Amino acid sequence: MQTVIEKIIEGEETQNQHKIESAAKIIREGGLVAFPTETVYGLGADALNPAASARIYKAKGRPSDNPLIVHIADMDDLDKIVVCVPAGARKLAKRFWPGPLTMIFEKRGIVPGETTGGLDTVAVRMPDHPVAQALIRAAGGYIAAPSANSSGRPSPTLAEHVASDLDGRIPMILDGGAVGIGLESTIVDFSEEIPMVLRPGYITPDMIQNEIGELRMDPGLVEEDSTIRPKAPGMKYKHYAPKAELILVNGAQKKVQQTINNLTREAIESGKTAGVIGTDESYGGYRYGIVKSIGTRSDEDTIARHLYRILREFDQQNVDIIYSESFSTPRIGQAIMNRMLKAAGRQVIEV
Ligand code: AMP
Ligand code: MG
Repeated sequence: MQTVIEKIIEGEETQNQHKIESAAKIIREGGLVAFPTETVYGLGADALNPAASARIYKAKGRPSDNPLIVHIADMDDLDKIVVCVPAGARKLAKRFWPGPLTMIFEKRGIVPGETTGGLDTVAVRMPDHPVAQALIRAAGGYIAAPSANSSGRPSPTLAEHVASDLDGRIPMILDGGAVGIGLESTIVDFSEEIPMVLRPGYITPDMIQNEIGELRMDPGLVEEDSTIRPKAPGMKYKHYAPKAELILVNGAQKKVQQTINNLTREAIESGKTAGVIGTDESYGGYRYGIVKSIGTRSDEDTIARHLYRILREFDQQNVDIIYSESFSTPRIGQAIMNRMLKAAGRQVIEV
């Protein structure tokens, strides 16, 4: 199958609308289209068509028990696919939709099990991206979309990332340029009495608590004990993984830098290709290996935005081992570290 890449160009609204229309046609007919959202690129299919959802799993090589998120563009469409929207969820929707927040509800029969990984609940999000919104509306209102990477690779933050994973496997990629946030949405489960955060993201627990009060964290997110499995099915898989081994080094900045310098030197001496993830502030102090800055500590959003791109670049450069600073920054630090710890298979050196 030939994959067509359609570029969305600012100012060329008529042409853009045309491209979005042809993407929507593919989706209405049961096919797949990768499209930009504000979090990461999604791989979309008609969420109410079981055969279409099944194609997503096949294209990504995704385990079939790992449910998809249904994307909507209008609030009225929510009630048609879920049994009930609790008051707290309505508040969050009002405050954070469109935006990087996914909420889980009991599903109606109209949503096929193929979309929800066989669960009787459905995850729903309203993305804050004009291309995503236009595509969802033109395709009939409901697009099931996980991240548009092949399963186990870092999520795509550029159309090029999608192409490198899925070229020849899907008919179309809408190229909307670089995404804004760079990490997947926050997931809150409203299918039980007390809402629970299943996956951290740009919308933090504090921001949610300010709106609705009581909130729990999935024990799999907070416990050190790795035998506790998170409730969100996808979280049990070793997600977000680069090909290289990733090791995080945590501690005071100076010691971190010394340790990483020593470790990279040793790795290179033993014949490995080594990479280093630092920041704009620390970049100059690394002496060995391929050194990359992930962003600046004075704007933690930049760190989130560049993480997956950097992991992919190291893969392309055939790096064997990556040493990285850790980023427990105040606001989205939890989301960044959640992804990094997974990519690192929880390998952390404390200094
Ligand atoms: P992705 O879009 O690739 O980040 O994957 C979507 C993730 O959302 C899945 O891996 C699950 O962790 C989560 N998810 C989606 N639907 C549900 C659901 N009904 N119950 C629990 N978690 C869900
Ligand atoms: Mg994913």
